[in-house]
Amino acid sequence: MSDLTNPIFTNEDKAREHLEAIRWPDGPVCPSCGFGNTVKPLGGKSMGPGWYHCGSCREKFTVRVGTVYERSKIPLHKWLLATHLICASKKGMSAHQLHRMLGITYKSAWFMLHRIREAMRDDNPGPMGGPGEFVEADETYIGKRDKKRTLKTDGTPFLKSGKAAQRVPVVSLVSGGKSRSFAVSRANTATIREILVTNVDRATELHTDEAPMYVKIGDEFKAHKTVNHSRHEYVRKDGVTTNRVENFFSVFKRGMRGVYQHCREKHLQRYLDEFDFRYNNREITDAERRDAALKGIEGKRLTYRRTAVWANV
Ligand SMILES: [Zn+2]
Repeated sequence: MSDLTNPIFTNEDKAREHLEAIRWPDGPVCPSCGFGNTVKPLGGKSMGPGWYHCGSCREKFTVRVGTVYERSKIPLHKWLLATHLICASKKGMSAHQLHRMLGITYKSAWFMLHRIREAMRDDNPGPMGGPGEFVEADETYIGKRDKKRTLKTDGTPFLKSGKAAQRVPVVSLVSGGKSRSFAVSRANTATIREILVTNVDRATELHTDEAPMYVKIGDEFKAHKTVNHSRHEYVRKDGVTTNRVENFFSVFKRGMRGVYQHCREKHLQRYLDEFDFRYNNREITDAERRDAALKGIEGKRLTYRRTAVWANV
């Protein structure tokens, strides 16, 4: 059976049962009080299937309550199909494409995609690296390309006014096959240091290019090794490279060019969350990746991650 003929994408009961099995592997749990043993299905015809009643707090609920699918009129099977499609598409999926494929409005498709990106966000990522490990760090710019870049004294590339100034810096970390990415107001020493010290274990070896803003930050980690791109060095003899983080950027940029042409700066972090999620779950099947995203629908609110970084905008 090919993935897309799975009845969870066409049959509402099958979709609900699939989601219930993922969210509640040991039976339904009340989203208000957290109890499971006091929960009974509500059989009444007026309610329809999928409703439960909690005997301890007397709340009624379905599997959508407390997830990013809550308060949506879109059937669950369309949510599951949309989640599957975005998980299975290496470069992502535009709201226009989803609108056509699912037969829903463009506006609905746009909101669905942002909620699915929320589900993909890892809220408790834990530190990267550690003793004997290394983290590759690099920065790039998303948006229209300015013609020539020069470095300011603090290491920030000089951004021209006008359209060129719309470029948004992105900082990514890659370690142990996992990526973590941040949209920032400026990729200078202060913001990059903040990202590194809050995400990377200090016992880690830091691998970067020769960009000046990493020089001081490097002292705060076990070691700091650089590849000298201006001398066309990409992999050192001792294996030090930033190729992995650069490969992540190239997939992200191809996706942003081809699929997400109208991404606004304020949404960039969500697209980064989406690309991080696919990168971090790349060695499993599309169906497994979809189910991993379904596990993330719970307890998310539509807020931006790491507001401290965003507050600088
Ligand atoms: Zn309850």
